[in-house]
Amino acid sequence: MPKQKTLRLILGDQLNESHSWFQKPDKNVSFVLMEIRQETEYVVHHIQKVAAFFAAMRAFAKRLRGIGHQVTYLKLDDRQNHQTIAGNIGELLKGKKFNRFEYLQPDEFRLDLQLRELSESLPVPCEMLDSEHFLTGRMELEDFFAGKKRYLMESFYRWMRKRFDILMDGKKPVGDQWNFDQKNRHAYDGKVPVPEPLLFENNVNAICKTIRKAKVATIGEIKADRLIWPVSRDQTLKLLKSFVTHFLPAFGTYEDAIVANNWHLFHSRLSFALNTKMLHPREVIEAAVAAWKKKSGDIEIHQIEGFVRQILGWREYMRGIYWTLMPDLEAMNFFDQKAALPKFYWTGETRMNCLRCAIGQSLKHAYAHHIQRLMVTGNFALLAGVHPDAVDEWYLGIYIDAIQWVELPNTRAMSQFADGGLVATKPYISSAKYIQKMSDYCDSCDYDWKKRNGDLACPFNSLYWHFLHRHRRRLEKNPRVGMMYRVWDRMKNNEKKAVLNKAAAYLQEIDHL
Ligand SMILES: Cc1cc2nc3c(=O)[nH]c(=O)nc-3n(C[C@H](O)[C@H](O)[C@H](O)COP(=O)(O)OP(=O)(O)OC[C@H]3O[C@@H](n4cnc5c(N)ncnc54)[C@H](O)[C@@H]3O)c2cc1C
Ligand code: SF4
Repeated sequence: MPKQKTLRLILGDQLNESHSWFQKPDKNVSFVLMEIRQETEYVVHHIQKVAAFFAAMRAFAKRLRGIGHQVTYLKLDDRQNHQTIAGNIGELLKGKKFNRFEYLQPDEFRLDLQLRELSESLPVPCEMLDSEHFLTGRMELEDFFAGKKRYLMESFYRWMRKRFDILMDGKKPVGDQWNFDQKNRHAYDGKVPVPEPLLFENNVNAICKTIRKAKVATIGEIKADRLIWPVSRDQTLKLLKSFVTHFLPAFGTYEDAIVANNWHLFHSRLSFALNTKMLHPREVIEAAVAAWKKKSGDIEIHQIEGFVRQILGWREYMRGIYWTLMPDLEAMNFFDQKAALPKFYWTGETRMNCLRCAIGQSLKHAYAHHIQRLMVTGNFALLAGVHPDAVDEWYLGIYIDAIQWVELPNTRAMSQFADGGLVATKPYISSAKYIQKMSDYCDSCDYDWKKRNGDLACPFNSLYWHFLHRHRRRLEKNPRVGMMYRVWDRMKNNEKKAVLNKAAAYLQEIDHL
């Protein structure tokens, strides 16, 4: 009997060198990676995102070949590239006499469906294997919350801490508390200087040329001779080391802070490395915990807990939410929002300094940190009544780390409350007060953060009340929002009218704020 020849597909976000597939070369196994229009076109991506994915995929293919694996790599402009997974796999199976096809569990619903359908149509046996990346299985969160109305992150997180014995002291959490929020989430006071970030200088000129020649539509800027994002395992490890050494000691304190002239503050910028699976969440947590243990004087418990919560808690939780709520999640629109995304989301050209800075840095670096995404761009889109489809499309395109399994639950559920509160207990909306408290944006803004109406009143203020007013029926009974209606009801009628008129005028001219 002829030996089985297996074709194995590696998707662009499956660059996991420690996967059991790659531990020993086998002459009866061949891997394939492909740069395809199917993936560059399902949304308009940031140019740095496309370039970083292709660069990381190419580096991964080279690495695999270096250790003896057989790899077929299809570049975007290769003649034999059919530009879809199905087209390329079909062709390879025809030509090379493979008698088996294998792929790793995809993280996106769309690809999961596509690969299942493909497998059913192929003339050879097919198998899907675990990607060996996440700490929890796709459906574990659903089982954990079975019968519950809400999916509370905090209960999931505590379960994960116990389950993986992370930051535990026997059955108790280290420091006797699960949560150190009162010590974390401060505005930046300049007391701790922000360390210089480790930025790579990857030359992606050739890749960018190919992307441009193929006329792939993209957004944002790039310095193609020095792409700052890590594109190899080696670089991701350097970034991880730099983070735990220099940034972790102040991570928690300033995790919600925003500073206009610093685009990363104490954040790790590890999301691209994690989402492409070049880094494993376990090793990130272990490196951070080891640094905390080693430098117990310099890294306090609230800093490490704040960070572990992001990876062990939020990241695994959002993945579970995605698989629990898909495909329904993609169509949810609790507030029945309809408006288009303001045009300045694509250019950064607005007089609102917070949005100009947050969008500007996103176009420049393909990155904004969490609170900018949630409380600046996300908050404004929700207040402005933007359709969640348009909001999703923007977030899915612009960020270096945007892959639907993590983008969608964060955007549609958490930030836009389109799930009606399965994830968040209340919508993440705020007036200018929050932005003024947590950032220095308002100091140099044309608008006045203190004003609700009148000339140059900050749009966040009137839009905030307008939003609450128009969604009263849906929100008044929410215990975390209800008190704002009492504040509104106590306001004088002429003041309420002026605020609503101001908001209506702003909504009319939204593209020109
Ligand atoms: C509207 C919106 C859209 C978002 N879209 C994405 C996205 O497409 N891809 C993405 O990876 N994250 C997304 N996030 C979550 C979060 O903002 C980013 O993970 C984070 O900003 C990445 O930067 P960092 O690596 O410096 O994170 P850090 O602040 O250093 O945090 C460390 C790591 O924790 C994980 N993490 C933290 N918060 C979350 C979260 N809410 N959900 C999942 N993982 C989390 C990430 O892997 C991150 O790298 C989104 C958040 C919002 C509010
Ligand atoms: S005043 Fe309003 S628009 Fe200007 S930065 Fe502050 S919150 Fe943003």
